[in-house]
Amino acid sequence: MALEAETKSIVKQFEYTDDDVNQAVKEFLRQMSEGLGKDGTSMSQIPTYVTGVPNGTEKGLYMAVDLGGTNFRVCSVKLNGGGTFNITSDKVAVPKALMVAKTAEELFAFLALQIKKFLEKHHGDHFEQHIRRRMTVSSPDGFRDEHAFRMGFTFSFPVQQMGINKGTLIRWTKGFDIPDAVGKDVCALLQSEIDKLHLPVKVAALVNDTVGTLMAHSYGAPGSNGAVLGAIFGTGTNGAYVEKMSKLKKPVVGEYDASTGEMVINTEWGSFDNQLNVLPNTPWDIALDKQSVNPGLQMYEKRVSGMFLGEILRLAINDLMKNPDISFFKDENSSTNDLRSTTDIAEASGVYKMWGVDSAILSVAAGDHTPGLSLLRKGLDDTLHIHAAALEDAQSFKAIADAIGRRAARLSAVAIAAVILQTGKLSDPELKGEPIDVGVDGSLVEHYPYFREMIHEALRIVDGIGEEGAKRIRIGLAEDGSGVGAALIALVAAGME
Ligand code: ADP
Repeated sequence: MALEAETKSIVKQFEYTDDDVNQAVKEFLRQMSEGLGKDGTSMSQIPTYVTGVPNGTEKGLYMAVDLGGTNFRVCSVKLNGGGTFNITSDKVAVPKALMVAKTAEELFAFLALQIKKFLEKHHGDHFEQHIRRRMTVSSPDGFRDEHAFRMGFTFSFPVQQMGINKGTLIRWTKGFDIPDAVGKDVCALLQSEIDKLHLPVKVAALVNDTVGTLMAHSYGAPGSNGAVLGAIFGTGTNGAYVEKMSKLKKPVVGEYDASTGEMVINTEWGSFDNQLNVLPNTPWDIALDKQSVNPGLQMYEKRVSGMFLGEILRLAINDLMKNPDISFFKDENSSTNDLRSTTDIAEASGVYKMWGVDSAILSVAAGDHTPGLSLLRKGLDDTLHIHAAALEDAQSFKAIADAIGRRAARLSAVAIAAVILQTGKLSDPELKGEPIDVGVDGSLVEHYPYFREMIHEALRIVDGIGEEGAKRIRIGLAEDGSGVGAALIALVAAGME
């Protein structure tokens, strides 16, 4: 009984009521407007220089590269029109030595070489033709510009974007450290190495992964008017949406195509409400933030995304395990009690190690509807070395995990609802009754059972959306967002040349 009461008390603290959702949506809208007005606010609201989204009719062959962290991915995307595409891709690990190279040139020369290898392997024809053309046409670049592949460059490090294919590196993260590159335009660095190899490739766009998701879903969603929002719920969380230029009050330096009157904004919503005006703040949220590398920052992300949910759960579970009045995960009834003491678990199990619980276990818990919770108990055994957990312990674990997952989904709904309200699409007379598309990507939204259903449930109670509005909102997985999205941004950028 004591365990049940303690569990209930923890679960209650993760409840996120309809009123909480509505209050947070209002605050989200306020912070979005603030970010559109000036720099240095909680949500950065970064202009991306992308001024339109595709509608599925786009055609052509484009390239996309993605330097994320460990890997460099090169792909070519054939857009067929009709919202379909074929993608060819290769992935190579970035050698550790190059992550800390002396000069930027060393790293970018390696990237250019991978592009060359990719072209030779998969686009021999195009490559040969280009070489032949080079022999007959003299141009300063060694190739005729119109014959070059347009390429989108997804670069997942902090950059100050100055134009659709221009952005200076602010700092390296994720184990990279090449001081020589800081402050330089990463597109120009890559182009320069591509040119040295005389490749028929033009770096047409610098791409943020959320913008890629938005573009990919605009292209691929059936019967769509273009998606209004692209959102990632993976290791971290972020979203990009289409905003009216009239609402973007802070100055946009650099050139862009002003004819559409719109621009895609990268919200950087992971840092929504760092001030904690409306975000929930349980003792476990507080403990997680304190031990994180960036206390006080990314406060929304720390309650929503895959990197953190497992750790929140771990911290809550640890409190139960330390409670002397209950026998959680101690297996007192077992005849082999001595083998299953807490100390025994401690040696092998992630439950005692910071960041030791992967969020994937929340998905296992949420998806287990068996009366004996056999799937979850197997998951506890396999991933956390918690052997033969008692049923009531597994029930308690599930209840807490489900509460954390549900809160994350309802918090995700806050961002989605606010962005949709911000765009005014629901009350746009021209769109009467038509679907509003949201493209999403990331392991959490892809694999956590009922995550999208829980988001929808919360959308229904938001003031200004309601049952009718929620029915029109379609949340769909953006297929292969990073490759296709980057290719589509390259296409948009090529149109602006
Ligand atoms: P990224 O965001 O880095 O591109 P992913 O979208 O795959 O990568 O997200 C990885 C994150 O998702 C990790 O934090 C991981 O713990 C979490 N994750 C992986 N699988 C699952 C799952 N089945 N359920 C919930 N979270 C998961």
